[in-house]
Amino acid sequence: MDVSLVTCTPEPEITIALAARTCYSKKPPREITLEKARQLIRELLCRGHESILEHASFTFRIEGISRVASHQLVRHRLASYAQQSQRYVSLQEADFVYPPVLEGNPQAKGLCQELVQHCKEVYGKLLSLGIPKEDARYIIPQGMATNLVFTANARELLHVFRLRLCNRAQWEIRELCFKMLTIVQEKAPAIFESAGPPCVDGVCPEGEKSCGQPWKKIGE
Ligand SMILES: Cc1cc2nc3c(=O)[nH]c(=O)nc-3n(C[C@H](O)[C@H](O)[C@H](O)COP(=O)(O)OP(=O)(O)OC[C@H]3O[C@@H](n4cnc5c(N)ncnc54)[C@H](O)[C@@H]3O)c2cc1C
Repeated sequence: MDVSLVTCTPEPEITIALAARTCYSKKPPREITLEKARQLIRELLCRGHESILEHASFTFRIEGISRVASHQLVRHRLASYAQQSQRYVSLQEADFVYPPVLEGNPQAKGLCQELVQHCKEVYGKLLSLGIPKEDARYIIPQGMATNLVFTANARELLHVFRLRLCNRAQWEIRELCFKMLTIVQEKAPAIFESAGPPCVDGVCPEGEKSCGQPWKKIGE
């Protein structure tokens, strides 16, 4: 998968801090240093004043994730999406995302590759028989790759990270969220430095289903 930042609110931490300061000033403030902005954001987040984070948003280009992962992502309703259409774009040449677990099992991977090849052939035949793409796509497996543009404000991003960076989240959406986290931590450290699942600074809410492990970052 390939994940990149298309755009974001210019100076997200300054924007958020100025919005926050408005709550406590006679007149809306117009300036704040980056250092003071970061200090204010850290203080307010400790107090749970999270709505200020809605004043900065981030837009990502996400390429080559499966429809499995994209379906999990689009369940997050407070974000905006533009996704490649299977009604307009042919899937004949589309990539396929194979779960890494298959790498250790050549027989299983071979079976999947055969099936994907067969599905693509049938899909092509359906198109040549006059079946529209929007109907031919019904036979395509969920691992078929897709592209999206995803926009979310910082509050919603923290929420997505809380759920999807958990050790128990599925590997692909976890990897996607780690890539986004790395990008936004560089852009706005005061907002995202403690992003992660609830166990990072508290107790795992999963109860008996908890993994019982410390949080594992990808690549560590
Ligand atoms: C480990 C895991 C397993 C899952 N398994 C399943 C499953 O088996 N089946 C399934 O269907 N889904 C499953 N999901 C998806 C899950 O149910 C949510 O749809 C998804 O995580 C989006 O989260 P959300 O609703 O909190 O967030 P968002 O849609 O991102 O919303 C953010 C927050 O805004 C508020 N909000 C948003 N919309 C409303 C609203 N209409 N009313 C009130 N408050 C609102 C809530 O506080 C919400 O937490 C799973 C998710 C995870 C992380």
